[in-house]
Amino acid sequence: MWSQEQPEEVLRYLKDMQDAVRYALQLAYRDTIRDEEHRLPSPIALRREVRGWFYSRYDYARHHVDPVCRAAVAMLRSYRRNHHGELRIPEVKRLAMRIDAELFRIGDGRVRITLQPNGYVWLPLNTANGHYDEYSKGRVSELLITDTKVCLTFVVGDEKKPLGKRLVAQDLNFRSVGSTNALLSSQPSLTGVGTQSLKGIVRIQNDFSRRRTLQRHVKNPQKRAKKLRETRGRQKNRVKDALHKLSTEQVKKSPDASSVFEDLRGIRKTSEASERGKKLRTYLNRWPYRMYQSMVEYESTKRAVYVSPRGTSSECPVCGGRLQHPEWAVSRCVKCGVDYDRDRLASLSILCRGLRLCGRPFAASADASWQQMRDEYLYPGSRPDALRTGWTDAASAPNENVVYESTRS
Ligand SMILES: [Zn+2]
Repeated sequence: MWSQEQPEEVLRYLKDMQDAVRYALQLAYRDTIRDEEHRLPSPIALRREVRGWFYSRYDYARHHVDPVCRAAVAMLRSYRRNHHGELRIPEVKRLAMRIDAELFRIGDGRVRITLQPNGYVWLPLNTANGHYDEYSKGRVSELLITDTKVCLTFVVGDEKKPLGKRLVAQDLNFRSVGSTNALLSSQPSLTGVGTQSLKGIVRIQNDFSRRRTLQRHVKNPQKRAKKLRETRGRQKNRVKDALHKLSTEQVKKSPDASSVFEDLRGIRKTSEASERGKKLRTYLNRWPYRMYQSMVEYESTKRAVYVSPRGTSSECPVCGGRLQHPEWAVSRCVKCGVDYDRDRLASLSILCRGLRLCGRPFAASADASWQQMRDEYLYPGSRPDALRTGWTDAASAPNENVVYESTRS
C-alpha cells in the first residue's frame, strides 16, 4: 500500500462509483425489505437490477458494475450486523473502490487500470515496500484505490499444485456421490467405482421443521425474519460441517489423486441449464456443490480438474448414445441395451472428460478395464448380487485395494 495523489480521471471515477454504490444500496435495501425473510440479495442478483442504469449512465468498462454491487451488499450486511439486525441504508462516505483483476495489469513499474473499454490510466507502482519482491511472486488478487492511496493485494503461496498419479471423478448430486477412479498413465485404466450415500446432508438441507414452527408461531414479522435468518445460518453451518468431513475423508482416501469435478460455475449459460438446473434446484441451491469442490481442492496436495458438465447425464460415455432416465437413479442406454446406475455412469463420463483434458483420451468400450468393471456400473435392478451400500460396496472394494497396493510398490 502506498500514498498517491490521484489523477483527475481517477478521482472522477471514484466519485461516479460512489454514486453507483449509493444507487445499488437503495435497490438492495428495497429488495431486502420486500423479501419475506428479509434476505439480502446476492451481488449477482443485484447486478441484474443495477446494470441497465449503470451502462446507460457511464461509459466505464462493464466489469466495473461488479465491485459496485459487491460493495453495496457488503455494506448492508455489515450495517445490519452492527445494528442488531436493524436495517437502514448506510452512508457512503469514503471514496474507495476495489478493482477486479481483469481490469488492471502490472508492468514496467506501473499499474494500468482499464476505466473505459479502451481507456486506460497508469499509476506508478511503489515497490519500496520491504516485502514487495516476496509478495509479488504470488498472484495479484485485487487493487484497492482511494482518493489518496493505492493498495495492491497478492495471494501468496498459490503455486499450481501438481497433477496426481490417479484421477478420481466424482458426480455430486447430494443424494449420493458416484465416483470412478483411474490410473493416469500413458494407458489409463479404471481401478475402482463406488457410491457414497449423502442421506445425512440431505436430511439437514431439507429440515424445514423449525422454520415451519417459527412461521406459524412467531407473529411479529421482524422478529420472525430474524429468527428465520438464524435458523438458516445454523442449517448452513451444519451442512458445512458435514461437507468438511466428507471432503477430508475423500482426500485421505486418495492422497495421490487429482479430483475431477464438473465445472458448475458457468452452468447458467449452457444450453443444458434446464436439464442440469432441475437436478440442482431439487435441493436448496448450488453452494454445497461448489463448497465441497473447493474444500477438496484446498485440502488436497494435488490439483483438481474441472470439466464441462454439458451432457454428462444425457450422453452415454461408453457408446455415445442418448440416455433416458425412466427413474431418477437409472440411466438407460438404448444403444448399449442396458440400465446403468446413474451416479456411477455420470462419474465415468466425468472421468473420460478429465482424462481427455489431461491428454490421455480413454475409450471405455474398447478398454479391458471397462470390460472387467462393467457390471458394477449396471443399475442394481439389473445386477441382483450387489447392494448399493457406499464406497466399500462389496463389488468395488477389491478394486480399490488393488489400486492402493499398486501405487505403494
Ligand atoms: Zn451406451
